[in-house]
Amino acid sequence: MRAVVFDVVGKVRLADVADPTLEEPGDAIVRVTRTAICGSDLHFVHGKAPIDPGDVLGHEAVGVVEATGPDVARFAVGDRVVVAFNIACGACWFCRRGETQLCDDFRNLGAGAFGGGLQGAQATHVRVPAADVNLLRIPDTIDDERALFVGDVLTTGLYSASLAAVGRSDTVAVIGCGPVGFFSIQAARALGAGSVFGIDLEPARLELAAIAGAVPVDAHARHPQTALADATDGRGADVVIEAVGSPTAFESAMGVVRRGGRVVVVGVYAGESVEVQLGVYWARALTLRFAGICPVHAWWDRAMAEVEAGRLDPTPLISHRLPLDDAVAGYGLFDRREATKVVLIP
Ligand code: NAD
Ligand code: ZN
Repeated sequence: MRAVVFDVVGKVRLADVADPTLEEPGDAIVRVTRTAICGSDLHFVHGKAPIDPGDVLGHEAVGVVEATGPDVARFAVGDRVVVAFNIACGACWFCRRGETQLCDDFRNLGAGAFGGGLQGAQATHVRVPAADVNLLRIPDTIDDERALFVGDVLTTGLYSASLAAVGRSDTVAVIGCGPVGFFSIQAARALGAGSVFGIDLEPARLELAAIAGAVPVDAHARHPQTALADATDGRGADVVIEAVGSPTAFESAMGVVRRGGRVVVVGVYAGESVEVQLGVYWARALTLRFAGICPVHAWWDRAMAEVEAGRLDPTPLISHRLPLDDAVAGYGLFDRREATKVVLIP
């Protein structure tokens, strides 16, 4: 089959690789109809995370079930499905509680040996382990493109806004208006926020924030804390969603939240550290919630319903649609930040 594979640091290429086969009884093979390039694919390309040359990249995909193992009960050949970006076992203690991001056997598609050694989804076909758990049926009313991000960033946005318990009349600040921030803004609005402010530094991202329904705040031009204070009689935001994953953004989040407010950190952290004066957080009675990786399996039914209702809509985010064979150009556009989201069509 045709696939996008890691070549050397800084380079991906198209290759003809072996077709995936059913390896375990719970597996399904999905013929991919749409796949996308994500920021975490770039970590592998840039050599920040290890992956072997020739390994297939990618974890965002929709398609049609083409084969199922004997243990697959919920899906049949021909079903239109979206694939989960994290592959959970569905059976361990954490999975049974819906905390699939904490699964004992947590894996990712296309994430190298340390990600579980599964091949990726930027290909004509992908093998999905524990298919009953890691696939979601797409309603006939929803086209492939609108379903694609339900396996990843769209559902992550709904998850972050829900963790923050966004409710009616809340003033919400979303720090970072990339794909995760975009969907967090849409989700906050869907959950009934009074007003949503989208904070970013890049004009194109601020435009997206406005399309998603936020008041854009250019952090270069205006201090976010002042902008939120002015909008709330000096109090600050009821809810803040940090959708960047940098100490600066974290500090910004803690700065714009009001006393007694809630901060959800959905941006990814690894080795970074910040100095925190505990008494300040304590006296301000803040709720600080680290989202971890989104347990998509627990949230994607709700996300699909929001897509069906039109309250979550990825269409404005997709800047490029390219044949799979043009994936190298797609990676270039995405890496140079000339594309917000590149959809590849196998
Ligand atoms: P992205 O890089 O496309 O967007 C981040 C945005 O933040 C950019 O527009 C950038 O200009 C802006 N930004 C950077 N520093 C800022 C600052 N100090 N203040 C305001 N804006 C700032 O990334 P994305 O795909 O939207 O993902 C955002 C974060 O969420 C990343 O850390 C990503 O790894 C993470 N993520 C988490 C999950 C999860 O399951 N928790 C899932 C997907 C992505
Ligand atoms: Zn599990």
